[in-house]
Amino acid sequence: MDENSRKTHFIREIIREDLATGKYGKKVHTRFPPEPNGYLHIGHAKAICISFGMAGDFGGKCNLRFDDTNPEKEEEEYVNSIKEDVRWLGFDWEEREYYASDYFERLFEFAVELIKKEKAFVCDLTADQIREYRGTLTEPGKESPYRNRTADENLKLFTEMREGKYPNGAKVLRAKIDMSSPNLNMRDPVMYRILHSSHHRTGDKWCIYPTYDWTHGQSDSIEGITHSICTLEFEDHRPLYDWFIEQLGIHHPRQIEFARLNLTYTVMSKRKLLELVEKKLVNGWDDPRMPTISGMRRRGYTPASIRNFCSRIGVAKTESTVDIALLEHFVRDDLNRNALRVMGVLNPLKMIIDNYPEGKTEELDAINNPEDPSAGTRKIPFSRILYIEKDDFMEEPPKKFYRLAPGREVRLRYAYFIRCVGVVNDSAGNIAELHCTYDPATRGGDAPDGRKVKATIHWVSAGDAAQAEIRLYEHLFTRENPLDVPDGGDFTVNLNSSSLKILTGYVEPSLAGAKPGTVYQFERLGYFCVDPDTIEKRPVFNRTMTLKDEWTRIQRKDAV
Ligand code: ATP
Ligand code: MG
Repeated sequence: MDENSRKTHFIREIIREDLATGKYGKKVHTRFPPEPNGYLHIGHAKAICISFGMAGDFGGKCNLRFDDTNPEKEEEEYVNSIKEDVRWLGFDWEEREYYASDYFERLFEFAVELIKKEKAFVCDLTADQIREYRGTLTEPGKESPYRNRTADENLKLFTEMREGKYPNGAKVLRAKIDMSSPNLNMRDPVMYRILHSSHHRTGDKWCIYPTYDWTHGQSDSIEGITHSICTLEFEDHRPLYDWFIEQLGIHHPRQIEFARLNLTYTVMSKRKLLELVEKKLVNGWDDPRMPTISGMRRRGYTPASIRNFCSRIGVAKTESTVDIALLEHFVRDDLNRNALRVMGVLNPLKMIIDNYPEGKTEELDAINNPEDPSAGTRKIPFSRILYIEKDDFMEEPPKKFYRLAPGREVRLRYAYFIRCVGVVNDSAGNIAELHCTYDPATRGGDAPDGRKVKATIHWVSAGDAAQAEIRLYEHLFTRENPLDVPDGGDFTVNLNSSSLKILTGYVEPSLAGAKPGTVYQFERLGYFCVDPDTIEKRPVFNRTMTLKDEWTRIQRKDAV
């Protein structure tokens, strides 16, 4: 598919046009409206990048508004995590942190206004009856028998609802629109329901709570939003959004819908993510396998890589699923430029340099980042006993294996040429240690006589290295579409049982005090991020990802 055609940004065009005509004012003012009932995920990152991005590009503002109309599922913890994540992504709502619950009084007054205009009524039908009366896509609905209550009666009942005179579910307030509208959302939708529940901000002040549809547009209007950007599922709600605002005659923002982000190997619904957390199928919302912003942060993804990804996938009107390899490509791209290089060994194999003096340690120079000369160099200790990667040695090497083997010479990165002169097996026949000799003339990695080796391998000095816990991750699900399950099954059957593997490895001594959140490139292995579980002298690393770029491979394959 043509990348550029996918990137054409219809929202930017709409805004540009609206600014030219002055239809929604002279400024751009957007909002990001999360419901605080879970942690933000990569799909939200797309929405954040669009709403904050459009405001930023046009010199406007973007509000952070918590859409907290449902008292039963919302919590302070989520509010805090959402603020942290939006800030971390690099966006700033300045002092404009708003809550839909701050507008409850205004919304109540607006509702009273609609009742007085005979545009809303109190209905005593049960939830089931309301559903029955609503009709279907092919059949018109039926009017509620309570639809023709007088404005005075409605006012009295609505006030009593607010005062707590009725139990949950006894009555609702509904808009009076059109029960035969082809759009089900216009068939006298519910505006308020009775819920005797405490709210995280308003406490027990209210026992009636406004619905999303009744809250959203009016909140946008109160805040002076010009462009209310949301996902496609709200397209059918737009006529209702517009209707409420028109009846009230208040500032009229423009709602624009775009397609949600879907990613392969990923579930993106907060309800499902909550299920994974509650059933302890992952280690919390910020588990590095989760598609949450906090999980990705812990895994080692950077804000720039997520923003770059969002800008590359663009904004479209049709749903599609993006290959997760594309996101990983942007993470690698950013880390390759910025991560410091170090050496770490995941599966240690002991190596003894027979001709290296016992008790001696020397310091060798290593380059911190070949992509960035200003990152400088560091000293790494070299001594008689080292660890190398198990995979870098084979007793009987097949044809294309150029790394270490009996009798063969390779280069130890930043150190010397070494030759394998002996293999010691344990009683079970496994390789226990290797004996090698080194050539002192090759210090730094080149032979004065010009002889070449076919491989360079990484290593750490056994006596100096810090032991580290290394957590390796794979996709959380085994299927590209985790929701693709056999009949009656649940998406959790597609969980990947080897998505987390824990190893004990060794890293350069400088990493003993590494700061949580820092990402390093372990040479030849991949990117690793220091986990907050790190304790003094025992760092814990999450493998962010390997060095191999799947996306580039896919692109090449497609190009053929
Ligand atoms: P979920 O479906 O995961 O529960 P939600 O839509 O209920 O998400 P909200 O907190 O209401 O979550 O979302 C805040 C904003 O983020 C909304 O404007 C919503 O349209 C947008 N958003 C949510 N999921 C995605 C996604 N996958 N791609 C793009 N935008 C999204
Ligand atoms: Mg929502």
